[in-house]
Amino acid sequence: MARYTGPVCRMCRTEQKKLMLKGERCKSDKCPINRKRSAPGKDPKARPGKRSDYGTQLREKQKLRRIYGMQEKQFRLFFERGVRMAGITGENLFIQLERRLDNVVYRLRFASSRSQARQIVSHGHILVNGRKVNIPSYLVKANDEISIAGNSRGMTLIKDALKEFGKSGVMPWLSLDPDAMKGTFLAAPQRSDITDLGDIKEQMIIEFYSK
Ligand code: SF4
Repeated sequence: MARYTGPVCRMCRTEQKKLMLKGERCKSDKCPINRKRSAPGKDPKARPGKRSDYGTQLREKQKLRRIYGMQEKQFRLFFERGVRMAGITGENLFIQLERRLDNVVYRLRFASSRSQARQIVSHGHILVNGRKVNIPSYLVKANDEISIAGNSRGMTLIKDALKEFGKSGVMPWLSLDPDAMKGTFLAAPQRSDITDLGDIKEQMIIEFYSK
């Protein structure tokens, strides 16, 4: 699966929003958004131009896609699956994104960013219900237990992430036992539970793909 390998902070600068793609650095003064860096290629003194509806919808879609570290093709597949599911398309999209194994690993504090979580999964360090799963887009189900494989428990990267981020607890749809290095995906969240992504307007994403 292809992945973006360019400068990560550039994506946040383009969106002029903290997408939290680099773990610890995102909370530090080194973050270019904290330092009010302008969008790439834009004169910092230039007045922001008026955006078309299409441009606004595109930016909204790009923000969400980039937060979850997905390529366009796969993100669109998730959206189309959301359309086919019963219920509200925007909610369905969020539920599926949250069920991705790399996202769950990140949310369980086993990694400091989603990209690091993706690497941990694809390198075979994660077990789902005791069985190794190395597919980052694997969709976790309610009551699945996610744990660190026995011979990966000593990994500094995982231990550091748990130590640093484990203190702040986990989202309400997850439970975590940091000492046992395992957690449970209790149930798929509601859209209203996902409060840490800022003001993403999923309606605009629906409009973008409905053209
Ligand atoms: Fe870079 Fe993180 Fe700041 Fe985004 S939020 S610009 S990824 S440091």
